[in-house]
Amino acid sequence: MRKFNFCAGPAALPEPVLLQAQQELLDWRGLGCSVMEISHRSPEFVEVAERAEQDLRDLLSIPDNYKVLFLQGGATGQFSAVPWNLFGAGEKVADYIHTGQWAEKAIKEARRYGQVNIVASSEDRNFTYAPAADSWQQSKNAAYFHYTPNETIGGVEFDYVPDVSCPLVADMSSNILSHPIAVEKYGMIYAGAQKNIGPSGIAVAIVRDDLLDRALPEIPRSLNWKVAADAGSMDNTPPTFAWYLSGLVFQWLKAQGGVEAMAELSLRKSGMLYDFIDGSDFYSSPVEKHCRSRMNVPFVLADDALDKVFLQKAEEAGLLNLKGHRSVGGMRASLYNAVPVEAVEALVSFMADFEQRQA
Ligand SMILES: *Cc1c(COP(=O)(O)O)cnc(C)c1O
Repeated sequence: MRKFNFCAGPAALPEPVLLQAQQELLDWRGLGCSVMEISHRSPEFVEVAERAEQDLRDLLSIPDNYKVLFLQGGATGQFSAVPWNLFGAGEKVADYIHTGQWAEKAIKEARRYGQVNIVASSEDRNFTYAPAADSWQQSKNAAYFHYTPNETIGGVEFDYVPDVSCPLVADMSSNILSHPIAVEKYGMIYAGAQKNIGPSGIAVAIVRDDLLDRALPEIPRSLNWKVAADAGSMDNTPPTFAWYLSGLVFQWLKAQGGVEAMAELSLRKSGMLYDFIDGSDFYSSPVEKHCRSRMNVPFVLADDALDKVFLQKAEEAGLLNLKGHRSVGGMRASLYNAVPVEAVEALVSFMADFEQRQA
């Protein structure tokens, strides 16, 4: 029996997608083998790859002057690739907003190749908010500006898009496809697949054309966006199964009403949980209200001695993977697109029941 899965990543996938993959696994499209067992250059697979790209373009209204790349190495591969790809023209200076663990990892990586200016940080209050734009000190000569619209661990989601004078780079790993975005405001967007796209092993990069000629000459071939773009993301063997499955998720998303429907649904799901938490003295959310994530909801119990029994009872009730990240403690419920409303209803009802039993 499938249970309600609140894992932060790799995360829940839509059940119809898993069923279709299961049905097609042994004999895909009458070829007598699985999609994993054919050449990535075969017309059949190329069609899958192209359709996935087109569906993603449709879902996010990606303008024609952006390349859509399907790459390996996850989001980490991409925040490592960003300085390599963008420091090649002009000075090696970049602006970063520090909002938590993922921002920090990206910052550390960029520091290996150039100068990083931290324009704003929420470290003073343990990464529980998105810093306001009025406090920033942007560099005059930055090659790019990097931020993390949704910090998966802290559960902090920006409620605005930074307005900057150089290419804006965003790590959208944990909130891509959960609402419409104005792609044209960005120079580059990347996301590891395993939260809101598909299985782990693939990452999506959306890169504005004019940024493809700024790579450092020493860039490893496998990190070079231009090489990937020129080869249709097939400079070497891509993760074909993850690409195929991501394509099925895009089709599912379209059938659900696209990112507009996901935006509505994510507000409903997260709103239900935050309202319940705010109405209780037993549970609390550490994150400031204006920037609470719709995707990752951390919460703590008034008495952390009860954490262990909470998690154990939750699991017995069929509610999986609610343990918070060790740096925050408590619980975290991740409510990505594939997590149904019923899962949140079941969680809230479990939480109410648990609270009552402890009283
Ligand atoms: C999960 C996550 C990452 C890391 O992704 P990998 O694919 O494991 O490298 C990076 N950034 C954010 C915001 C994430 O949520």
